[in-house]
Amino acid sequence: MEKCVGCLTPLQTGFFSKAEELSDSTYLCDPCSEKVRSAFKNMDLGNLVYFKGYTSFQVQELLVKEAQFQWFLRELAKTYHLTVSDTAMVTKLFTALADGESTVHAAGALYGNKRGILLATNRRLMFVGANSQIKLPESIDYKEIASADFILINNQIKITTPETTLFFSGIMNQPEKFCSKIKQQIDQINNKGQGETRPFQNTNESSLFDILERLGNFRQNGIITDEEFAEQKSKLLERL
Ligand SMILES: [Zn+2]
Repeated sequence: MEKCVGCLTPLQTGFFSKAEELSDSTYLCDPCSEKVRSAFKNMDLGNLVYFKGYTSFQVQELLVKEAQFQWFLRELAKTYHLTVSDTAMVTKLFTALADGESTVHAAGALYGNKRGILLATNRRLMFVGANSQIKLPESIDYKEIASADFILINNQIKITTPETTLFFSGIMNQPEKFCSKIKQQIDQINNKGQGETRPFQNTNESSLFDILERLGNFRQNGIITDEEFAEQKSKLLERL
């Protein structure tokens, strides 16, 4: 009895079989054929109807790709509350991923007035615009980023490189957290903060200011002297 090379289900082959024969005389069942077709569609590899020219190995690779793509799509939609209405955008991001490159954060965002998806991986920052004619997402390696800042007033993420400054706004999903994740990746790439974790620099800074504010209140209420306040203040500011 022949088995489907995709799912190993036993097949009725022969004259009445609906399974497709591959170039190495193996067979593929109907549901697996559908998956391979959708892999072709998702990966923008053209529109394939018959697989006769493919070996079972090539078909299995495509099935793995399709499974990875579906997983990536689900992860973006579920983990980052992303409305993935435009799968063309997600496809571009997915096909751009290198081996071992994984998602760190993602969100719908505006670059200028261009709506798209901003994706942070463990290697770089990628942006893909809706209805963009560009085949690949625009991307920037963490190594090239001098700083990433969250601007609370405009709710923007500001990315500075030696050459340019980029602003991403309209970020739906936790923009401040997104920015701190980018910072974390930049730090890791630059081997800064290894061992010593500094994922939430913003939080540290704001808590320093909280302490300063409290010390200020202490001084006003006569709990500490002006000298004590000045001493504590300079100590705190050194930590920034
Ligand atoms: Zn199958």
